[in-house]
Amino acid sequence: LAFCVVLFSCNENKTEFSSNENLIDQKIDSLLKIMTLEEKVGQMNQYNGFWDVTGPKPDGGDAAKKYEHLKKGWVGSMLNVTGVKNVRAVQKIAVEESRLGIPLIIGFDVIHGYKTLSPIPLAEAASWDLEAIQKSAEMAAEEASAAGINWTFAPMIDISRDARWGRVMEGAGEDPFLGSKIAEARVNGFQGKDLNAHNTIAACAKHFAGYGFSESGRDYNTVDVGTSTLFNTIFPPFKAASEAGVSTFMNSFNELNGIPATGNTYLQRDILKEQWKFDGFVVSDWGSIIEMKAHGFAKDKKHATELAANAGSDMDMESYAYVEELANLVKEGKVKEEFIDDSVRRILKVKYELGLFDDPYKYCDEAREKDVLGSEKMHNASLDIAKKSIVLLKNEGNLLPLSKKGQKIALIGPLAADKTSPLGSWRLAADDNTAVSVLEGLEKYDGNNLTYAKGTDLTLEQPEFIKELKINTTDKSEFGKAITVAKNADVVIMVLGEHGFQSGEARSRAVLDLPGLQQELLEAIFKVNKNIVLVLNNGRPLTINWADKNIPAIVEAWPLGTQSGNAIAQVLYGDYNPSGKLPMSFPRSVGQIPIYYNYKNTGRPVLTDPGIVFWSHYSDIENTPLYPFGHGLSYTSFVYENLNITDTFKTNGTISVSVKLTNTGKTKGKEVVQLYIQDKFASITRPVKELKGFQMVELNPNKTKELKFLLTKKELGFYNNTGDFIIESGDFNVYIGGSSNTVVDAQFNLNN
Ligand code: BGC
Repeated sequence: LAFCVVLFSCNENKTEFSSNENLIDQKIDSLLKIMTLEEKVGQMNQYNGFWDVTGPKPDGGDAAKKYEHLKKGWVGSMLNVTGVKNVRAVQKIAVEESRLGIPLIIGFDVIHGYKTLSPIPLAEAASWDLEAIQKSAEMAAEEASAAGINWTFAPMIDISRDARWGRVMEGAGEDPFLGSKIAEARVNGFQGKDLNAHNTIAACAKHFAGYGFSESGRDYNTVDVGTSTLFNTIFPPFKAASEAGVSTFMNSFNELNGIPATGNTYLQRDILKEQWKFDGFVVSDWGSIIEMKAHGFAKDKKHATELAANAGSDMDMESYAYVEELANLVKEGKVKEEFIDDSVRRILKVKYELGLFDDPYKYCDEAREKDVLGSEKMHNASLDIAKKSIVLLKNEGNLLPLSKKGQKIALIGPLAADKTSPLGSWRLAADDNTAVSVLEGLEKYDGNNLTYAKGTDLTLEQPEFIKELKINTTDKSEFGKAITVAKNADVVIMVLGEHGFQSGEARSRAVLDLPGLQQELLEAIFKVNKNIVLVLNNGRPLTINWADKNIPAIVEAWPLGTQSGNAIAQVLYGDYNPSGKLPMSFPRSVGQIPIYYNYKNTGRPVLTDPGIVFWSHYSDIENTPLYPFGHGLSYTSFVYENLNITDTFKTNGTISVSVKLTNTGKTKGKEVVQLYIQDKFASITRPVKELKGFQMVELNPNKTKELKFLLTKKELGFYNNTGDFIIESGDFNVYIGGSSNTVVDAQFNLNN
């Protein structure tokens, strides 16, 4: 009977059904009418995986209680149930044993791939290639959906200017413009054109809001920011995700200006649901409802429930709060039943749109699972975006690309043969040892002229997602072998950096040098062979001053996912000409953090007389970053000329900016041409530069192309301190170049 009540739409045409909003609304209305208050609250309850085909899981929390709740229809969603068999098992209980048979929505952190991993999101952002980023999310959706998943907790679109924060690896870096474009691309990639298709999944814009601004980069810490930063820097990617039609939002662990995001009415109801008209649902972060007690915002669990529900958090992830307290709060009149109905409506809507009511087992196809997971198609897609994510930071003396004519290569470093670390953090469904290592990648090119020595370990432990990773090696006994190998080589490739699990959630670091004995190893090798190519693997900007000063070639290769070693080898040997650009500034020292390209001028002029101290600077280090936002080299070189401004809003209401780009080197190459503006004076002070456009251009040697950018007035506006978007008349600078250290500029005036 249960099965029939809900599946009354079985015979209807699927496409018509999904495309008809009104019909969905009607169905939700009918369903709401027959739901008890407890069943409604049940839809708002999400549990971590506690059940699989074998029955209750020992690590599933209070499995017995959760199982009873599932049978009663008191669970609307589960996360961390993976694999078709397991998903089918839990879905079967919800659909066939609960009174109304409402299907579960199955969520999972598909952050950068599922079984086959693409580069970490920060790395993908370095590609600046929106098509490739969208494609990568599309592939992740295809693989995850084949494993039974219908909802990912991604994209993470928190802007951050603090490399100490380990979660920068999950985002798109420091810039709201680039971040917004990437947010849109990722949402479109995961959700596709049709959420009802079998290979698309619902996306989740997280963490709303301010999480990337946690004080001192310490995860979960206090966030205190003004309106201008909130509206101009933090909100834009979220607004973009909402406009792209993202199905869900996740709120956040942090408090924002004194109010935890989870209990924040302003964020969730006023901004998101009222102003932006977001009609999907908001899930809490893991336990973030109950954490409001520790924040000192809620008296107890019941109070936390009341605050969260009233503030517009629609679903409770693993706090056991809604399921235990919410119905009583409604009965006591502390939470309006209208709020409950609104939340349930939002949740059911996404389930309808996914087609789960038509077929709750639509993601449970064992044959597809077998075909899709780890398929060649996935590996090819992963390799493609991995190459595009690599950033050439430095290349002096043209050490790179390597020659294919029998150059003797020494490969050294604790990460050189590592097949796990390149997978990065947040890869809950992928197995250890499944990445192609740099050693394996290089062996395919010229194994005969390659020698390898580890040099040192990074850690003596087995790294795990949930365990603090201790960098505890003191053993230098392998240094000697590495030195010998280096002495006999034409070129030394050193693969150093962070282990993949050194960044991610709760992986804040206060020191951003190369961890362990790696710096010492690098200097020891440098003493015997200066022809070093440093290949960095790291989930965040590091402070690598010594390397920048001494090492001729530096390649930023992040954790690049499953195809890491192949992508790196192709770049080192020049079969792929690097085109990536940094999405985050690299500081010279931790003391400069937060450091970002779109800072504001102080009132103090820059004084060049070394005897005068009264200007805004450090006395021990330069103000500038080591590598600025947008920086990245190629094996060829580009020249920018003739920045021209025409059509200053006279025709079409746009301003047209053109520039001539010439490939002045010897190889074909791709350049990310970046356009920045500066509003020279305004009623709210504006940054020295703001990215407002970029284009990727591929040019053959000696070829020139004229590129055109169109700016509308919208790009020249900003949010004021009451959160209103305004466009003011005045003088603007416009800059174009291959990084935020732009090379050509011009001025124009906006006359409103
Ligand atoms: C993280 C979220 C994640 C959730 C579920 C939390 O700890 O902050 O980003 O989606 O866990 O795994």
